[in-house]
Amino acid sequence: MRHAPEDADARRAIPPVICYPVETLPQPDLALYQRALATAKPSARVTAPPRDAATFRVPAGSFFRITCEGGPQVGDLNLWNAEDLSERFYSGKTRALHGTHVSTGDRLWSSFPHLRPMATIVADTLDWYGIDAFGGAVHDVIGTRCDPYTGHLLAGTQYHHCCHSNLTRALADALNVPLHQAEPLVHDVLNVFMCTGFTRDTGQYFMKASPVRPGDSLTFFAEINLLGALSACPGGDCSAEHSSDTAHCHPLGIEVLTPDPETLSSWQPPARNAYDGTHGGPASSCP
Ligand SMILES: [Zn+2]
Repeated sequence: MRHAPEDADARRAIPPVICYPVETLPQPDLALYQRALATAKPSARVTAPPRDAATFRVPAGSFFRITCEGGPQVGDLNLWNAEDLSERFYSGKTRALHGTHVSTGDRLWSSFPHLRPMATIVADTLDWYGIDAFGGAVHDVIGTRCDPYTGHLLAGTQYHHCCHSNLTRALADALNVPLHQAEPLVHDVLNVFMCTGFTRDTGQYFMKASPVRPGDSLTFFAEINLLGALSACPGGDCSAEHSSDTAHCHPLGIEVLTPDPETLSSWQPPARNAYDGTHGGPASSCP
């Protein structure tokens, strides 16, 4: 390691600047969503079985709620535009805009070139948790998803019920396509109910037992027509390990809730991002 320069402390003492100030970010009208949610009635329901995944469709202007049912359990969520699967949840940009963990009022943003809110979190029964003494918090957009490739890389295993594989099988079923066509559509997730952070000394990604309990839920407003997939992670509450059959696992419920449409008469679905897409190239490359 190199010797620190003489002004090392002064360089370290420079205060940080927020990368993406969100003061100009269009804000969701949470009061409007709350009024709509108060009128919403269940219209569909599926269960993600333990160590498996389920898909669901949510029309724009409806809600969906993920509920902890049998015991502490984390879920890995993927979202696609139901009409154009190339538009999918963009975990990295959501993290850049809202921080490492999301809660009520935060939005799940879609991939380029669309970059618009796909869903808005309207209720979170774990919003009391905050940031604990280890730097841990709930519902992260930092973990990617547990997958068989990293398991094989680190431990030489062949495990088939990681969230990545569960999401792949569920999506293949929903689209009626072979696994190899579904797999490239699976993407980095929102880790619902998972409690994670980075260690202060080594900066490593950590997990700890989720504070979620039966009855806890996370509720979203669908800003566009959505196809969703949720995997009940083989890590269970992620207190010890994932990518194995060791942990106790529980189902997760997904409920679609349809509000009285009159409560949303002033609401408009978000348009795709209006950047002109020319990237400084020749004008002829512009569609
Ligand atoms: Zn997982």
